[in-house]
Amino acid sequence: MNLILFGAPGAGKGTQAKLISKNYGIPQISTGDMLREAVRLQTDLGKQAESIMAAGQLVPDHLMLRLIRERITKPDCANGLILDGFPRTIPQAEDLARLMNELNLPPFVCLEISVPEETIINRLSSRKTCSQCGADYNPAINPAPADMKCTVCGGRIVTRPDDNEETVKKRLEVFKRQTGPVKDYYAKNGNFYSVDGNKPVNEVYESIKKILDALFKS
Ligand code: AMP
Repeated sequence: MNLILFGAPGAGKGTQAKLISKNYGIPQISTGDMLREAVRLQTDLGKQAESIMAAGQLVPDHLMLRLIRERITKPDCANGLILDGFPRTIPQAEDLARLMNELNLPPFVCLEISVPEETIINRLSSRKTCSQCGADYNPAINPAPADMKCTVCGGRIVTRPDDNEETVKKRLEVFKRQTGPVKDYYAKNGNFYSVDGNKPVNEVYESIKKILDALFKS
């Protein structure tokens, strides 16, 4: 099962990707998490990406393509994978299709988690994130513990530097302008599905599971 989770920042892609990964036994590949790790380690990529991410802009395609090619060719992706945060532009989607072709792997199915903009802004402006493992905390669903220690890995829970109001607005603008066309790209190829993401986490997951089980049942 090769799956792209598509949706605006804060739509719940990471949360749902973790559930799918656990239940279907395929890795979650979050380009945002990979970049944050690169920034934390101050690798060459991390140094190039840091200010771009802080401004809510997209990291250049050629850097993203190199990163994703390296990751997808690892053995744990042979039976399927979940992409969370990639592709975000048409060139990324086109290169991904070329890569799958080269590797003789089945094409990706794109699944949108659709959430109104108002909800996105509310979610992101109150979201806290583990600086170590990327787990998300939301006051309405799973509030961060008082000691701000991650319940998954013990890491420090922080506000992501790009989750401030100004940068959130920029990210949404970038999403509409640069990432919006990616949806049409998959819809045109008949590989596009959508679920309502403005519901409790378990209900969204159930809708996703229904689609995946119908598409990938063996
Ligand atoms: P995310 O955690 O998916 O919201 O990503 C955080 C930030 O990482 C984005 O706002 C971008 O600056 C960068 N980023 C993540 N994935 C991509 C991508 N596929 N292409 C370009 N930039 C990306």
